[in-house]
Amino acid sequence: MNDTIMVTGGAGFVGSHLCERLVQDQHDVLCVDNLYTGSRQNVRGLLGSRYFEFMRHDVTFPLYVEVGQIYNLACPASPVHYQHDPVQTTKTSVHGAINMLGLAKRVKARILQASTSEVYGDPAVHPQPEGYWGNVNPIGLRACYDEGKRCAETLFFDYHRQHGLDIKVVRIFNTYGPRMHPNDGRVVSNFIVQALRGEPITIFGDGQQTRSFCYVDDLVEAMLRMMKTERGFTGPVNVGNPGEYTMLELAETVLALTRSRSSLVFKPLPPDDPRQRRPDIEVARQALGWQPTVTLRDGLVPTIDHFKQVLAA
Ligand code: NAD
Ligand code: UDP
Repeated sequence: MNDTIMVTGGAGFVGSHLCERLVQDQHDVLCVDNLYTGSRQNVRGLLGSRYFEFMRHDVTFPLYVEVGQIYNLACPASPVHYQHDPVQTTKTSVHGAINMLGLAKRVKARILQASTSEVYGDPAVHPQPEGYWGNVNPIGLRACYDEGKRCAETLFFDYHRQHGLDIKVVRIFNTYGPRMHPNDGRVVSNFIVQALRGEPITIFGDGQQTRSFCYVDDLVEAMLRMMKTERGFTGPVNVGNPGEYTMLELAETVLALTRSRSSLVFKPLPPDDPRQRRPDIEVARQALGWQPTVTLRDGLVPTIDHFKQVLAA
């Protein structure tokens, strides 16, 4: 069997950390990315490694390569970016899943899908267990991402039932860390960049909505563990940090850690913005022996350092 590990979306924020960890562990890694939101810069440190190969490719088109495992991460994840070209976002999730599942079927590869807490939409059940089916607006501005990811999960499970594919599905909750793009648009990067520049911190709505933030190293560890579970264990498995914060609390923490005097400015809440989000991670604890190890404050420190360097360059 070919033991190359393919990572789609490997030049993105999470993907680059995953590639880095796989290369460190001396796996041959094929990073496939169309650089829509990712960059060569994210994998610059890997380009010289004999374990690493970069291929520019859009997963909405078929791909013929020989690999043993696939991590399917290709998809813009920030609301700003996935709403910029919503048709392409749905295509990336749905056509991308069909193409990568077809590839996995041909080469008999194990395939892991990077799904999302967005499959729960604006959740009526709190915290969210995997058994909750969600509350998603199918025609709203977030639907290109939420429904695209939901359909990708459907495809994964149908390929599993119909063709016996060896699938793994993780539902990732808000993750942050170094290598997020300064213009990524997600809340952690926005607040840190604004605080470091002394610009007003943009709070959407009243700032009482909650999210649970996972440090990227914890997420990568969970994905590796999921990939190693026995055949037949498919998930879905929630991966996230159950620590839950309002956006006002996040802003205060970022201001304290950056020693910034930025003011807060309140902006309209985007449509369909979930009011609350927190993972129930019992399945991950039991099946993966995993739980997050990095607190929000501890994870924000290296993330802030990253943005200091980027802004100084
Ligand atoms: P990101 O935007 O930094 O990375 C996505 C990568 O996919 C980028 O490198 C981008 O260029 C690439 N890509 C996009 N469309 C593509 C296409 N058609 N073909 C090939 N490559 C394509 O986002 P991220 O935060 O690193 O997210 C990675 C994955 O994890 C995504 O699938 C996302 O949905 C999922 N996820 C992330 C989070 C999070 O908080 N970071 C939460 C839930 C799910
Ligand atoms: N948010 C905010 N200010 C910003 C960016 C985002 O208050 O500058 C809020 C946003 O409305 C949401 C939360 O932060 O309630 C998380 O937003 P993000 O885009 O990071 O992720 P998602 O909504 O997909 O969880």
